[in-house]
Amino acid sequence: MSFLFEHQEKGKTLKGKSIAEKLEKIAQIGITSEGGANRISGTLSHEQGREQIKEWMKKLCLQIHYDEIGNLFGIYEGVMQKEAPIIIGSHSDTVPNGGHFDGILGIVLALEMIESFQKSGILFNRDIVIADFIDEEGVYSGDGLTGSRYLKDQLKAKTHPIFSAISCYIEPHIEQGVVLEQANCPIGIVEAIVGTTSLEVCFEGLSGHAGTTPMNLRRDALIVASEWIVEVNSFVKQYDKYAVGTVGFLQVIPGAPNVIPKQVMCMVDLRHIDAYHLEKLSQHITSLAINFADKRGVSVKVKEKFISNPVKMNDDLNKRFIRIIEQKQIPFQLLPSGAAHDALMLAEVIPTTMLFIQSREGISHTPKEMSSLHDILIASDVLSEFVYSIAVDNSKNIEGKRF
Ligand SMILES: [Zn+2]
Repeated sequence: MSFLFEHQEKGKTLKGKSIAEKLEKIAQIGITSEGGANRISGTLSHEQGREQIKEWMKKLCLQIHYDEIGNLFGIYEGVMQKEAPIIIGSHSDTVPNGGHFDGILGIVLALEMIESFQKSGILFNRDIVIADFIDEEGVYSGDGLTGSRYLKDQLKAKTHPIFSAISCYIEPHIEQGVVLEQANCPIGIVEAIVGTTSLEVCFEGLSGHAGTTPMNLRRDALIVASEWIVEVNSFVKQYDKYAVGTVGFLQVIPGAPNVIPKQVMCMVDLRHIDAYHLEKLSQHITSLAINFADKRGVSVKVKEKFISNPVKMNDDLNKRFIRIIEQKQIPFQLLPSGAAHDALMLAEVIPTTMLFIQSREGISHTPKEMSSLHDILIASDVLSEFVYSIAVDNSKNIEGKRF
């Protein structure tokens, strides 16, 4: 059965056919009535999906290993083990009724890359590893990035049962946003995974009868909250190209149509790739809330509910990616990732970067998620050349470390 790609698009190259067939085959495992992917970590369909991945790994004669948390690794063994392995991967679990590209595309591209090395008779003096990290989406654990967090902790403690060291981690992944499509670029390189600050802002005014309280005597918490929300939006919009801010939750008390709102609790989500700017955004938005509240005789309390720091991708890896992409004259963008990925965890302990593939209309986590085979093939080509260039390079990078 063929449903992800057009036949004409698939038939163009052998590699295109092979990638399309793999994506379509795994898409059938746990497919929903709406045509979505349902392979939640810990479920039978996820395990069946992994059986399929293992079958492909076996076909490539990769050494297959699981670690204690359930990460799956397929190792293309080096002829010598002179250098630390390179890991390329992502995740095969999905959200309920998700898309057919998120996560799994990175694994399929890694499989294709190994196949192309084998077909060309290329052997390395280090292992090249395909990783399928468990429970990236967090539907099983509620937390997410479970497998990559475990690997990070084990690498830090030098206790991972399979790897004592890793030279770098590369994650090919769909963008899940509209930046590449708007810029008409098939691929992009991630500069950083954004940090998030989540603030709870609670305005406290005075309740009153909606019919008997004159307009000039009101201390309406919702009016202040509304003014503040509009200002948050325009402030973040003009801050810089990396800043995003969203007020996505409001609780109005008492919440009756004929009562002046006494209290409004708002949640604002702020993101930026730089910790300094994230802090500045958070401070300014807090002082805006205080100023608006003061003007209308309302009080306000601001609490930090959640903070995650931005994580920069590795500069040397990114420069190498850019060199290869520019040589091929492929239009690309350097862009932040607004979503968390396994790369977020691993960037803390090893040189890490991500290759993004354009997402149609930026839609993700739904059955409508789509990337074109044209763009996927460009990513496949760039990824293979990139990994090859690192795998054969035994020179030291500018940090004095070896990839
Ligand atoms: Zn993902």
